[in-house]
Amino acid sequence: MTQLPLRAQLASALGRTAATLSRATGRGDGSVIGGRVGLALEPDLLRKLAQDRKLALVSATNGKTTTTRLITSALQELGDVATNAFGANMPAGHVSALSSAKHAPYGVLEVDEKYLPEVINTTGAGVIVLMNLSRDQMDRAGEIWLLAQKWRRALAGKNTHVIANADDPLVAWGASTATRVTWVSAGQPWKEDSWCCPECGGPLDRKGMEYTPPGGHVSGMVTSRTAENDWACRECTFRRPEPSWFLDDDAVIDPRGQRWVLDIQLPGRANRANAVVALATAETFGLPIQRALPRLREVTSVAGRYTTVQRDGRHARLLLAKNPAGWLEAFDVLDRSLPVILSVNAQGPDGRDTSWLWDVDYRVLRGRPVYVAGERRLDLALRLDVAGVPFQLADSFEQALAAQPPGKVDVIANYTAFQQIRSEFGRAV
Ligand SMILES: [Zn+2]
Repeated sequence: MTQLPLRAQLASALGRTAATLSRATGRGDGSVIGGRVGLALEPDLLRKLAQDRKLALVSATNGKTTTTRLITSALQELGDVATNAFGANMPAGHVSALSSAKHAPYGVLEVDEKYLPEVINTTGAGVIVLMNLSRDQMDRAGEIWLLAQKWRRALAGKNTHVIANADDPLVAWGASTATRVTWVSAGQPWKEDSWCCPECGGPLDRKGMEYTPPGGHVSGMVTSRTAENDWACRECTFRRPEPSWFLDDDAVIDPRGQRWVLDIQLPGRANRANAVVALATAETFGLPIQRALPRLREVTSVAGRYTTVQRDGRHARLLLAKNPAGWLEAFDVLDRSLPVILSVNAQGPDGRDTSWLWDVDYRVLRGRPVYVAGERRLDLALRLDVAGVPFQLADSFEQALAAQPPGKVDVIANYTAFQQIRSEFGRAV
């Protein structure tokens, strides 16, 4: 790597000092404050830190932290990787991540969806990974269509390689201005935010629905394994791009048609989809699947997700779900034989409006003991009552946990509820 200019070196060093002080004084992991100090001293710091590295930017509504971790783990097979492991996914966090691994030839950065165009322009990253777009917490949602439109503008005319989920119509639209795209069939369980064509506003037809393409005849080959995720606009020519990578149940099918069993440690369909995206990304870095796959298996938890906290013989497995699509993914991971505790807050990072709770179908929870805790437990309780899901109300997570028989229990919590449980119950094990 070329040497950073003196001013950038100084800004980077002072940023690291601020981060160390922040950690030492117990104000968090320091990655954001360190980056802010660095950027204040040298506004061009992110661009300077990014140049001469092979960078991948990872963005999505859900799964970006986990996928960033999986790609990082894979690329470590090739050399040192700079990454924002603590989910600080805005430019200050990126500065911190890159300056704390100054000599790493590779970088994998999780990027907030709204900041993606800015970070693409600043870093000139060679690889962009786009997985899904759906409504986040209601009061911060903005317009996801506008977001996809900004992605389109940022990617147009750039010499970048985009890895994108073909099964999400909005992602496909957002990525389709890029000159080079590797399409991955990673699935789209949550479809409620994409019934309309992003190109023309017409209705999208999906596999399983009656489908008549423009002109009245079916065009294009659709293999059986891709067909279940197929979609096409009824009124214009916009339709799902043909993928070259597929998630096929518990396996990935690569562009040569070879099937590899995923057997990763992280649970659930969503994580298998993240793994397929990670493998497709690793290949653009020249890393073959047989070397990348064992590295993905080494990842067992990501920022506390899927880890277990214990008290008095109760072992609670923590699942984070921040929005309707995330709840659907968490339901997929639940152990059907176990009780489940649901904890919902509505603080700033969660979004204060909890009306999104009504968009989730909770009927899958019927038939197991359900406990409801968190600041917005009454909102959730009403919703469960309407869905016909029996439940018990608890004043706190602690009380809900104490009500369980000794043994395992699953927990689904949104952002601040999840963080509260982690901090009150100590280090996850
Ligand atoms: Zn259309």
